[in-house]
Amino acid sequence: MASRKISLRNKELPQEGRHSHLEKKCKRIIKKSIILHDDLTSLANRRSFNIALLDAMTFAQQNNTCVALFSISIDRFRNINDLFGHKMGDRVLKRIADILRYACDTNCTIARTGNSEFSIIQPIQKGKSETSLSLSEKIISDIKNSTRSPQTPVDVNINIGIAFFPQDAETEENLRRYADIALRMARHEGINCVRVFEKNSEKVLNAKLNIEHDLGLAIRRKQLHLVYQPLVIAKNSEIYGFEALLRWQHLTYGEISPAIFIPIAEESHHIIPIGEWILTETCKAASQWPDHLLVAVNISPVQFRSRSLLTAISNALKETGLQPHRLELEITESCLIRSVDNPLDTITKIREMGVRISIDDFGTGYSSLSHLQSFPFDKIKIDKSFISGIEHNQISRSIVRAVVSIGRMLNLPVVAEGVETEQQHRLLIAEGCPQAQGFLFGHPSKNVIPLSKNISEQKKNLKYMN
Ligand code: C2E
Ligand code: CA
Ligand code: CA
Repeated sequence: MASRKISLRNKELPQEGRHSHLEKKCKRIIKKSIILHDDLTSLANRRSFNIALLDAMTFAQQNNTCVALFSISIDRFRNINDLFGHKMGDRVLKRIADILRYACDTNCTIARTGNSEFSIIQPIQKGKSETSLSLSEKIISDIKNSTRSPQTPVDVNINIGIAFFPQDAETEENLRRYADIALRMARHEGINCVRVFEKNSEKVLNAKLNIEHDLGLAIRRKQLHLVYQPLVIAKNSEIYGFEALLRWQHLTYGEISPAIFIPIAEESHHIIPIGEWILTETCKAASQWPDHLLVAVNISPVQFRSRSLLTAISNALKETGLQPHRLELEITESCLIRSVDNPLDTITKIREMGVRISIDDFGTGYSSLSHLQSFPFDKIKIDKSFISGIEHNQISRSIVRAVVSIGRMLNLPVVAEGVETEQQHRLLIAEGCPQAQGFLFGHPSKNVIPLSKNISEQKKNLKYMN
């Protein structure tokens, strides 16, 4: 650029006039391009995206067609930057921009509209919203397939929200807002999810945001408490410990199921202080129990990834004096999949403290037998969906049999979750399943330990605590 400038200046006057005109024009084009494009990815920036969106909506209105607006965000992009550095973060953004360019038709406008956010404007025919769904599926699968490559050896996940013009919104502002609401709904659901805006999406999201807000205050408001469900030896129903399960008594909504509020606590990261509170409370409770009883605590994936987990465990043990071997942490396989840190390292450090680790809900979700080989677990908990089928479903029964026999070979105790009937209990004993849990042996309950000092009496009482 610099040498060209000099040569232009050295020309004769009339020519200089022509060249300086050319130079100005070039500068104008470059300036315009800088104004309209994102530096890093060369995609449209927010400014040109806004113009293109208005144009697309006007065109659709005049031609009786539609516009699909995609809001796309990268899951936990900050982690990628923090763990792998900004250079890798930039590489991931460029890679995603390329994938979007490759997946979209030329009539789409692709923009980088935030630090780790992208938007697509897709003109579509009326009643053809499936075109947008198939595009989003393609994008997700292309990203899954190509980000774990040698160029970007990072696990990248995204979420997508879609809203349609004119069905969902008539103004450009509302269309953007609705695509963002759909994106937030997708994020609440997990990773690599696509959500299309629906009429009640805003209401549902607002309820979630209220819950999220109240959850942040729940400990201080003393609305959280723990209940304990017995874990038993299958053959004689003797209680050897309890699983702690969290309960939230909300002022307006009453008791909210952990299946609903735990994912919200994870998304908002309230799970970190709540998880620390759970660890201390459960260790405190268990330290009052007879020595032969252990306590099992659920650890969510966000908590598992958090750097403060190890400190939280050791603080809870120190504060309450509970012996580490009486504490068992239950993690699901999503902790191993969604973890950017090294999960083996975390598991090893926890076990070095003397605390045990069980693999929960085994057989569902991201199940993989290789996890049993790669990670040193102390126990396998078979998901209750297999136990509920064990009486009538041959496949469920075969899966239970297979898991029990793997446990036996690996020398790992296996717990059957969700045992509700005598018949299920009998079948589990016949399959050689050593441990069990479920309503048959006891519902989760607030006060579980009788005051008797006599251990055999305690055991007797515990068996009849229902
Ligand atoms: P989970 O860890 O698999 O917990 C077992 C769930 O099964 C509990 O539901 C328990 O009440 C229920 N259950 C136990 N026995 C039976 C049975 O015989 N039949 C049936 N149908 N259900 C049975 P709950 O308490 O609603 O918890 C749901 C999930 O929420 C838990 O699944 C766990 O993933 C999560 N959760 C609960 N408490 C905590 C916590 O303190 N921390 C974390 N991170 N997650 C928690
Ligand atoms: Ca559990
Ligand atoms: Ca479970």
